[in-house]
Amino acid sequence: SVEPSVHRQPARQFVGGKVPLGLKRKGLRVLVTGGAGFVGSHLVDRLVERGESVIVVDNLFTGRKENVMHHFGNPNFEMIRHDVVEPILLEVDQIYHLACPASPVHYKYNPVKTIKTNVVGTLNMLGLAKRINARFLLTSTSEVYGDPLQHPQVETYWGNVNPIGVRSCYDEGKRTAETLTMDYHRGANLEVRIARIFNTYGPRMCIDDGRVVSNFVAQALRKEPLTVYGDGKQTRSFQYVSDLVEGLMRLMEGEHVGPFNLGNPGEFTMLELAKVVQDTIDPNAKIEFRPNTQDDPHKRKPDITRAKEQLGWEPKIPLHKGLPLMVTDFRKRIFGDQDSAAT
Ligand code: NAD
Ligand code: UDP
Ligand code: UDP
Repeated sequence: SVEPSVHRQPARQFVGGKVPLGLKRKGLRVLVTGGAGFVGSHLVDRLVERGESVIVVDNLFTGRKENVMHHFGNPNFEMIRHDVVEPILLEVDQIYHLACPASPVHYKYNPVKTIKTNVVGTLNMLGLAKRINARFLLTSTSEVYGDPLQHPQVETYWGNVNPIGVRSCYDEGKRTAETLTMDYHRGANLEVRIARIFNTYGPRMCIDDGRVVSNFVAQALRKEPLTVYGDGKQTRSFQYVSDLVEGLMRLMEGEHVGPFNLGNPGEFTMLELAKVVQDTIDPNAKIEFRPNTQDDPHKRKPDITRAKEQLGWEPKIPLHKGLPLMVTDFRKRIFGDQDSAAT
């Protein structure tokens, strides 16, 4: 039932490879679900820059038109306001499937919707990929490891996830999405790729998404105390968004299914993160302790050996280099251009 596509096969051979003499490289048709979000919009920038024809499908739950508006008017760019929980017919060569709220505050807001997005939404995008024989990349998460008993986390670790907790809609949702992806791969011979993304930060993050980096940066800029949850000794590893996008593109173009951990192995306690934010924005910023949320993973750090070996990828931007880039963006969005020019 696979429909032939005249454009698809020739186009794919040109990616990163040699373009046959006398033939102009024809862009790939690439679908990015969740492309108006934080990570998606940076990915879209790179794909458009590379000359691909990009379609964004996004319901704008946590994404913003502003993130992709600079492509409006480009004939190689198209945005469709659509919820992936509903089926859709499109013709593309590759699908980057990112659609899903990522911040705990957002994904807990309507947990059943989060599950539907991860399960029904992913099923629809896999069904689409199967019908048009497109290559499919799932953005899974380090949350599939739950509150990990193995440290750092290797891809072969199966995780320690609470199936009935407040984070389960996301953790178990993504685990099911991975399962579906592998079942389409085995059952329908679909070309698939799985990325397990670790905490990522950078420009265009939602200012009030409640994630620790956006909270600390916005708080320091607004002269509010930095809210550290629990004792602040829990750890995370923070990756700058351009490193992630590079990893996702290498994964899509490469030969390996994965799953691949994509994250920066630099591990910080929340108190250490607060210190980096103080050093970057305001050394006098106060710290305020708050009760921690339920089921909060105690530590998290990716083992990226597999991505290094099989994708030739590793992150390049350490926290103290990436954070100022995000601060510039937040400052502009919080105070507007005028005030940021003055400060
Ligand atoms: P984000 O919230 O900025 O982007 C998600 C996008 O998906 C938004 O534009 C949102 O409107 C859209 N969306 C949500 N539900 C949808 C639906 N039902 N139909 C259509 N569109 C929908 O989050 P992000 O940080 O850019 O995350 C992108 C992907 O990466 C997500 O799948 C997330 O789970 C994964 N991820 C991100 C991180 C991180 O630290 N940023 C970590 C692990 C995994
Ligand atoms: N689907 C879609 N677009 C397509 C093809 C399929 O949205 O171009 C959806 C379809 O509605 C279905 C899901 O993907 O709910 C899974 O499709 P598949 O063909 O794998 O399974 P089936 O339709 O046989 O259940
Ligand atoms: N956290 C914090 N202060 C905040 C927001 C979060 O100390 O204002 C902590 C949170 O308890 C967790 C870590 O920061 O231990 C990372 O939380 P985030 O929501 O950013 O992402 P997660 O990795 O939990 O999905």
